[in-house]
Amino acid sequence: MSKMDNLRAMREARYAEAQKRSAAAPAKPAVKAPVAPPAATTKKASPEPAAATEELCGHRNMSGRTCTRESGHAAKSHRYS
Ligand SMILES: [Zn+2]
Repeated sequence: MSKMDNLRAMREARYAEAQKRSAAAPAKPAVKAPVAPPAATTKKASPEPAAATEELCGHRNMSGRTCTRESGHAAKSHRYS
């Protein structure tokens, strides 16, 4: 079996299992939106903002560089890179 076949088989198995589970699980008793079709909930939840874009310390050193550590970093020194 090739790697691709293996991957596909795994995916299909997982998909079938998810289908089974959603079929077996009692439908949500709560509000049933009449219009909206059941959203295809994908495996991934909304991704969190990348850590790289988190707030930075922003401290500036004498040569105008900006600290690249995270805001409120524990390190005593600022990092300019
Ligand atoms: Zn800093």
